[in-house]
Amino acid sequence: MDKMNGVIRGEKHRISRTERKYVDKKIEQEAGRRCFHVCVLICIAAPFILMNHIVREQGAAGGSPALFLFAIEAVSVICGIIGYFGTNQKQFSWMNRRMYLAILAGVMDLAAVLITNAMASFLLVAIASLAVAWAMLWEEKYSLGWLCGQIGVLLVASIVREWNPYMLTTMAMMQGFSIVISLLAYHSYVRKLHNEYYLKRAVHDAQTDPMTKLCNRRGLDERISGIWQLCQRHNIPVALLMMDIDDFKKYNDEYGHPAGDACIQMVARQIKKNARRRNDIVARVGGEEFLVVFTGMNMHQVKERAKSMQDMVYNYKMRHASSAKYTYVSISMGIAFTDFETQVEFKDLYDIADQNLYQAKQNGKNCICADKEKTVSA
Ligand code: GH3
Ligand code: MG
Ligand code: MG
Repeated sequence: MDKMNGVIRGEKHRISRTERKYVDKKIEQEAGRRCFHVCVLICIAAPFILMNHIVREQGAAGGSPALFLFAIEAVSVICGIIGYFGTNQKQFSWMNRRMYLAILAGVMDLAAVLITNAMASFLLVAIASLAVAWAMLWEEKYSLGWLCGQIGVLLVASIVREWNPYMLTTMAMMQGFSIVISLLAYHSYVRKLHNEYYLKRAVHDAQTDPMTKLCNRRGLDERISGIWQLCQRHNIPVALLMMDIDDFKKYNDEYGHPAGDACIQMVARQIKKNARRRNDIVARVGGEEFLVVFTGMNMHQVKERAKSMQDMVYNYKMRHASSAKYTYVSISMGIAFTDFETQVEFKDLYDIADQNLYQAKQNGKNCICADKEKTVSA
């Protein structure tokens, strides 16, 4: 019941698979970017920590500071490259970046344990844990696992290096600080991604017709505003194909509204099959009216596509017993075309396509009319 109340009040939100996929993918991309930034930071910071004269004089129990510097630089370069190039890959393997980043932190921890200078040890552990906490974007369980590992390293270091209690306390506080950063970094980023997802979905829903999944008028306006200006500037031809299902009122009367909806969906699918290019726009602009926008095609190509759409709808052979002339569901089409030889606005072309559609209906339906395109391009 409590659960139900939560749902009614809008407190509970079930995360869909697409949302989860979106968030996971973005987190991986961001982890890759952060990985790269951290590696650049460590590459720059490591020489200052390990090669200053005090560290060089005091040396390191397990080798020279230069050796540790070399190891840190090498692993951070590998990790940075993997993080940078992995970011734009479609397939993400979380093992890559995070594993290398963990190895990098491990090398820094090892240097911190073996190095004789306390300040250098502190800086190495601090940079390793803070940077990893910020870059990994891990869930709680992984972050806590990381914290346990770091505390283990601290304990070993404090015994081996005989750190005084102040040093140990400072190191432990710094670890606590890094876990807070880790959780804050993860949760604030995840929240941002969820909000981003809702916003994108809301914009998409507002511009999409739920029944056919095509653009609605709002979506059409949004997409055309960018494309129209571009085509106008570069004289790229634009064609509008206005379509309407023939005798659809009779179809609804004969088969009922749900069948009418299925018919609209079928027509939408056939049209979409012929407009698959990235810049092609297919919109449902009325109850059973559709508009297709083609760019960069000549009139001959446009007519071919239009004919193919019309044939595919008719050859689908959806029975329309009460059609005035035809046995199956058919569409009529009006085409308007411009190559921007003369100034023309989208609205003008739209009106011409509409008039040509009207003409196609007058000419007996299940046909295409493109007569008036010359009035635009002349
Ligand atoms: P014409 O051949 O001249 O186009 O004749 P028509 O009967 O198709 O006339 P019109 O294009 O004006 O028909 C529009 C009809 O489409 C009216 C309405 O009942 C129906 N309609 C509009 N939207 C929907 C819808 O979403 N679902 C269904 N089932 N019918 C719709
Ligand atoms: Mg109509
Ligand atoms: Mg109609």
